Amino acid sequence: MLDQLKCLIEYQMIENKKNLLVRGYEETPRRLAEIERELEHIEGEYQSKKAEYDNAWTMHKALETSIGDLERKIARSKSRMADVKTNKEYQAILKEIEDTKKEIASREDSALDIMENIEALKRELEELGKEVEARRKTFDEDRKRLLSESEQLKEKLDELEILQQKVREKIKPDLLKRSDFLFKRQAGIAVAAVENGVCQVCHLNIPPQKFIELQRDDSIIQCPHCHRFLYWPGHQEYCLTEEDLRSL
Ligand SMILES: [Zn+2]
Repeated sequence: MLDQLKCLIEYQMIENKKNLLVRGYEETPRRLAEIERELEHIEGEYQSKKAEYDNAWTMHKALETSIGDLERKIARSKSRMADVKTNKEYQAILKEIEDTKKEIASREDSALDIMENIEALKRELEELGKEVEARRKTFDEDRKRLLSESEQLKEKLDELEILQQKVREKIKPDLLKRSDFLFKRQAGIAVAAVENGVCQVCHLNIPPQKFIELQRDDSIIQCPHCHRFLYWPGHQEYCLTEEDLRSL
């Protein structure tokens, strides 16, 4: 086993793990914003339903006021009847009273419709109110959970960072330089496994002679195409697990 190659593989594995955690860590603000938006949405729905409800009451009150006005108008018309001189005038007042009564009846119908609407809105508001309450509760819980998860991720990342630094110190300077160059140039992947003679990162065949050399495990070999450091998973000691990383 090549100790330096193993270090490179460890370094790469820690890097992969870090990238995975970073994605989760960076996801937190987005998820927080998402649950905030959900809460705002349901609160907004409640507010607009409440406005509808208040508006219905305003309309209802206006109708009742106008009905009161019309009733007073009838009373005035009736009192005028005593002073009426001609039948024509009398008929005109009767007609006026009749029309006003019709108007009152129509407005009372409208007031009744609005009242029914108010009852329905009241029930909807109660339901929405409960939903808002429940959502606020889950929001607080979700928020706490997300923040604590994020905190844990950060701690884990810090641990990995220290671990990676330790591995880094074990890698010889010239190899480290090549490795850092590859990391920068090759999308953060400097090490590749070779299976059935194919580099598992760039998916190109490596020459048979190189593959034999790789299996011999005498020196560190780079992929002739992507230049990543190669290892053969047939050598069990290079197949690191999470467990191995923890024991580093
Ligand atoms: Zn390759």
